[in-house]
Amino acid sequence: MASTTTAAAAAAGVGAAPANGATAAVGRVELPAHEGVLDVVVVGAGQAGLSAAYHLRRSGLSFVVLDADEGPGGAWRHRWPTLLMEAVHGIHELPGLPVPEIDSARPAFEALPEYFATYERAFGLEVVRPVAVTAVRSVPATGWPAAGSGTDHPVRGTAGESTAGNRSSPGARVPAAGERADAGIAVEHAAVEHAAREPAAPDLLAVETDRGTWTTRALINATGTWRHPFVPYYPGAADFRGRQLHTADYRGPAEFAGQHVVVVGGGTSAIHALAEIAEVGTTTWVTRRPPVFRDGEFSAEVGREVVARVEERVRAGLPPESVVAVTGLPPTAAVRAAREHGVLTRLPIFDRITALGVEWADGSSVRADAILWATGFRAALRHLAPLDLREPGGGIRMEGTHTARDPRIHLVGYGPSASTIGANRAGRAAVHDLKALLSTESTAHMAA
Ligand SMILES: Cc1cc2nc3c(=O)[nH]c(=O)nc-3n(C[C@H](O)[C@H](O)[C@H](O)COP(=O)(O)OP(=O)(O)OC[C@H]3O[C@@H](n4cnc5c(N)ncnc54)[C@H](O)[C@@H]3O)c2cc1C
Repeated sequence: MASTTTAAAAAAGVGAAPANGATAAVGRVELPAHEGVLDVVVVGAGQAGLSAAYHLRRSGLSFVVLDADEGPGGAWRHRWPTLLMEAVHGIHELPGLPVPEIDSARPAFEALPEYFATYERAFGLEVVRPVAVTAVRSVPATGWPAAGSGTDHPVRGTAGESTAGNRSSPGARVPAAGERADAGIAVEHAAVEHAAREPAAPDLLAVETDRGTWTTRALINATGTWRHPFVPYYPGAADFRGRQLHTADYRGPAEFAGQHVVVVGGGTSAIHALAEIAEVGTTTWVTRRPPVFRDGEFSAEVGREVVARVEERVRAGLPPESVVAVTGLPPTAAVRAAREHGVLTRLPIFDRITALGVEWADGSSVRADAILWATGFRAALRHLAPLDLREPGGGIRMEGTHTARDPRIHLVGYGPSASTIGANRAGRAAVHDLKALLSTESTAHMAA
């Protein structure tokens, strides 16, 4: 990918920002330049990120939305082609724009990204994409240009965006001159003196990406789970001569015609695949725990129960559990179809994988052409590792939408807000909190 860099920025590993107001040609899209520090960087433009962006537009805070995908839609653009709108239940509209009437026979991976694209246009949310965030680091902010001067900018080499409605913060605060080469920020040495005269400022965040580094006071992380499929380890996995794939790579049943597939996992994706593959091949279903089928529809009360349980876990610093683990399997069309095909006879999880299939401790075995791991996803948070947010329990302790260890970092679409309705609410709550936090910080700094 071609990018425009200065020698200093190249040395520091960042894309260079051209003069204010200019536009840098970077790869497939033009990146408008943003020099200085934003109030908020939003990472991810799925339901959660766009909801946050909608509320940020109204907040007066300066922000940019970065997304690793080529186009709108978040995870929906990657769903398998045979997932039709009729199988997608309870999609909650993005704030301010109802989901249009969509033909139930249309694939979700087409129809929902169209809705997201319309949404971005309708509210002028210019998402910068494709930009993959690789690391977020806390960096000291010891250089403060005079508030509102807009002239004394010691940051250079920060590629970013100032979109039509996304305001640049006046008197942007910046990292210390010459100190942060390790964080990928090139700065002018002239600012060293300036920094020495200024009172200490709250730390900033350097958001490192494959397209340059953005500097911000706070972060709303909305990266979902799609990029982090989870496959558990079983002995012998490397010996299997058939095909192993995760649902993230499943493209529908056609490729399994005439084959025997072991489907692993007790969630809705497993049920969906079992029902589909039954049309063209045969299956064995294995799950770790006996699945629980729920009779009733997903009521508001059940929804509240799910949120409360997952909230409790993340408040305690434990990894969030899946919705199905809390609610049981809802009575969807896929469940009915799978039942009709007689493929919902579940076996306990096998003990090992062999060259030809899977095997249990009692010596019984099943031959298979493929193993489909419908074993879910984990939150895609690797880029936050430098912030050291995890607790000994393996999770990130949350207080509302922000992490307990760092109130500048909000996780939306995470844990209790990992649904389309939860993502909406979390986006609004995160912006509300950040507005209060950032104005308190500014007041405290002014008073110092
Ligand atoms: C098969 C399936 C069916 C579902 N059906 C329903 C349903 O019927 N109803 C419902 O309410 N929910 C449903 N869900 C859940 C729902 O899809 C999700 O809760 C919701 O879409 C997640 O939105 P999000 O914004 O959190 O994440 P995503 O939609 O995954 O968006 C995350 C975005 O972040 C970007 N990103 C990730 N990492 C980076 C990075 N490092 N740098 C830059 N960008 C990054 C990605 O490119 C992506 O665009 C379903 C989920 C699945 C898997």
